[in-house]
Amino acid sequence: MQSRRQFIKISALTGALLPFLKVKGFGKSVSGRKGAKPIVLSTWHFGVPANEEAWKVLNSGGWALDAVEAGVRIPEGDPKVMSVGYGGLPDRDGHVTLDACIMDENLNCGSVAFLENIMHPISVARLVMEKTPHIMIVGEGAYQFAIQQGFKKENLLTPEAEKVWKEWMKNSGYKPKIDDANHDTIGMIALDSGGRLCGACTTSGLSWKIHGRVGDSPIIGAGLYVDGEVGAATSTGIGEEVIRISGTHLVVELMRQGRTPQEACEEAVNRVVKNKRNKIDSDFQVGFLALNKDGEYGAYAVNKGFQYAVYSKEENNILKDSKSHI
Ligand code: ASP
Repeated sequence: MQSRRQFIKISALTGALLPFLKVKGFGKSVSGRKGAKPIVLSTWHFGVPANEEAWKVLNSGGWALDAVEAGVRIPEGDPKVMSVGYGGLPDRDGHVTLDACIMDENLNCGSVAFLENIMHPISVARLVMEKTPHIMIVGEGAYQFAIQQGFKKENLLTPEAEKVWKEWMKNSGYKPKIDDANHDTIGMIALDSGGRLCGACTTSGLSWKIHGRVGDSPIIGAGLYVDGEVGAATSTGIGEEVIRISGTHLVVELMRQGRTPQEACEEAVNRVVKNKRNKIDSDFQVGFLALNKDGEYGAYAVNKGFQYAVYSKEENNILKDSKSHI
């Protein structure tokens, strides 16, 4: 066993060598890997074109807030992405209802939920943050606010989405159903070259949900949380289970206590898995993605299949498979 005296001697020696080791590039083993800056991360395969757009802002020295807003507007406007914005699958009554939130490095945040007929809820959320004393506006009030701010009323139900809904109606019994096939959100978190951390999260939520249902995505601390001094996290999957554990706030607080982004995501997933009310099977998905102030990142999900996209100078917009509990 190491004596206390030996321990102090070794610690003193390591301490004296630390600056040298870092300069020589050995900092990795002593103080933990430093990540890249700027960097942007986002959930799922549609994160790739979204990151591409965000990168334009980050690479020219812009603000991470502008990057995440520009980035997530891509899947919001893409009718082929059937779980975000325009072309999203509707609720069980055939209404496309959208949820989104945005947060900057100083705890400024804005959110809209249960918003209909507006293609870019993330930009409405940003205006809630910038132009009102509030954080969250929902439903008809959010729609009126958007119209006052100059947004256009648009029909977001595409013929393709309507067809899928009508098909579902035939045998569904009008029952909301949660399985791995009927959701996916874009959550994006970014660190700019000035060290500012920001995030955005936007979704059409669970398809076939009860009219008025709101998930985790527009809730600060559930679908998205950013603390500019610590890190940022976003989530995807069954929103009810993320809300129950204040998922992304938990991830950020774990990073504050010294966990790496990877460890923090794993612990948050463990909380979901340990919850006795949950039946953990292949239909059950919750995933977290996290980034810290140093540009280190991590991801973890309950089930296999959670992918996320990373764009930095070292990792040129690659799609990665998250590790998972199952
Ligand atoms: N978290 C979203 C919701 O519950 C759906 C998803 O990301 O898969 O509305």
